[in-house]
Amino acid sequence: MLSIRHWDFRRRNRRQNDTRRVWTPTRWALWSTPPIVLGYVLAVDLLALLLIGATARFVDIDSADWIRLAALALGSALHVEASRGIERLRWSASEGVPYANLKGMWTFAAVLCLPPPLAVVLILSVYLHSWLRLRRVPPYRWVFSTATVLLGAAAAAVCMNGISPTTYPDLPGGPLGLVTVAAAATAYWFVNYALVVGAVLLSNPEANGRKALGPLSDQLLVFGALGLGVATSSLLTYQPWLTVALLVTVLGMHRALLVGQFQFAARTDPHTGLANTVFWHEIATKELERAQHDHTSLGVLYLDLDHFKTVNDTYGHPAGDQVLKAIAVELKHEIRTDDLIGRLGGEEFAVLLPKTSDAEIAQAAERIRRRIAGLSISVTTQAGPATVEGLTCSIGAATYPSAGCSLDALLLAADTATYAAKNAGRNRVVTAPANGDL
Ligand code: GH3
Ligand code: MG
Ligand code: MG
Repeated sequence: MLSIRHWDFRRRNRRQNDTRRVWTPTRWALWSTPPIVLGYVLAVDLLALLLIGATARFVDIDSADWIRLAALALGSALHVEASRGIERLRWSASEGVPYANLKGMWTFAAVLCLPPPLAVVLILSVYLHSWLRLRRVPPYRWVFSTATVLLGAAAAAVCMNGISPTTYPDLPGGPLGLVTVAAAATAYWFVNYALVVGAVLLSNPEANGRKALGPLSDQLLVFGALGLGVATSSLLTYQPWLTVALLVTVLGMHRALLVGQFQFAARTDPHTGLANTVFWHEIATKELERAQHDHTSLGVLYLDLDHFKTVNDTYGHPAGDQVLKAIAVELKHEIRTDDLIGRLGGEEFAVLLPKTSDAEIAQAAERIRRRIAGLSISVTTQAGPATVEGLTCSIGAATYPSAGCSLDALLLAADTATYAAKNAGRNRVVTAPANGDL
């Protein structure tokens, strides 16, 4: 259900994806990670191994269990095959955060309706199949991801046994059944999630803690998958043939998981994470219509970095890209939640400031100008680390309705004001005059 998409070993060894390395344990990048990461990973793997050994002794299996195991294995295999394309895209988009997926639907169903040894078999088969068909990460990463799921499953089983020891491994009926399932699902999710986030944070200490947790929507997805696991196990137990209807429904809905990704990609400039020019214009048009309707003012800032070509010439184009990223982060710090920054071109940005007076717009522009002028940006160049200082920008500010009444007129006024700021010596803010004419 959760696994590590990006284990930050790539920086240590770019050739780790080399197939030979993947299949030669002595060459695994795992061994060159800090001892604390190595210890953590091996401890989790060992615990999972002990768990498998412990469940192997707990055997009370009848033919109905084998049939359920076969049904779950078949259902999960069909699911993995049918959603391969979608999951590959989602996997590559989840860099640096836990990769949330729907496997919990099958693995949690196994925990709920199979004796522990068969649940272990199902979990291993689901993860092995998806490793073979989806993404061949190095085996030690696969082992770790699978180990976290096995430990999550063990936590769920402990919960079920603790709450309803008389019925376990079956579920009690009535409200107690619901409480048992909810507690088991929470334990399953928590153990798996905490172990994966722990590995992400340990292997990449500079990682932002919040980012390592991943988006909340991903965790809702995981809980949704666990809910589907409850439905799957109930159907398998009481109306096995209806499980087919559930599988078809899930396959149909699985496509919808990409919608959020597409929406984000369509709106965002991939280099800076700011709004791209199309999305910025779309929102600016809507905000201007709102301002016209509500009789409020609206500001547009046009910002062009000064002598940016010199940064590229001095430190190299990749360092210039790093500077642009850093500038984007700084700009975000200077705006309110309702404002929108767009990257309109290479080193040109636009800021949309709804419901803002002329004076406030000029103040915001001046704050941004000062913030950029005071920056020290660390970059990596071919010659090693370097610091870019003294970078400045020229800003043109235009306000609706004084400087123009259409978006085109406002942008032209802001652009002309930027040009005037450049001509006046750069590193300054120029406000477009009330008649829109400089
Ligand atoms: P000024 O605006 O002060 O007149 O000078 P400038 O050097 O910034 O000139 P101009 O705005 O005309 O040119 C922008 C330069 O920014 C040209 C190009 O080398 C660089 N640039 C544009 N887009 C990117 C990008 O995505 N990455 C990097 N590294 N550089 C870029
Ligand atoms: Mg420019
Ligand atoms: Mg420039």
